[in-house]
Amino acid sequence: MSFDTIPKDLRGLRACLVCSLVKTFDQFEYDGCENCEEFLRMKNNKDNVYDHTSNNFDGLIALMTPDDSWVAKWQRITRFTRGMYAISVSGRLPPATIREMKNRGISYKSRDMSQR
Ligand SMILES: [Zn+2]
Repeated sequence: MSFDTIPKDLRGLRACLVCSLVKTFDQFEYDGCENCEEFLRMKNNKDNVYDHTSNNFDGLIALMTPDDSWVAKWQRITRFTRGMYAISVSGRLPPATIREMKNRGISYKSRDMSQR
């Protein structure tokens, strides 16, 4: 398996606002988000990384077998790549991005659990 989705450093970690994948800023800038790159386009785009990820998140889950994990089901991440995921991510996705996801038939649910 590939370890590209595992954070390479514990500093500068950020979580994707859409899928809650946790990686370093550099990894997001270099590879984009493995789950959401299609519509978030963070590869080689620092502004998009800032807009679509947050350094304010809580809890970490190591996702190894997405199809076979009740935690993954509970976090709604069963269809995502293996990696580290945050339990709660604070921050807002820009309205333009939410619109674009809607156009692609993807419904956006906030990953922020702190207010519930
Ligand atoms: Zn993502």
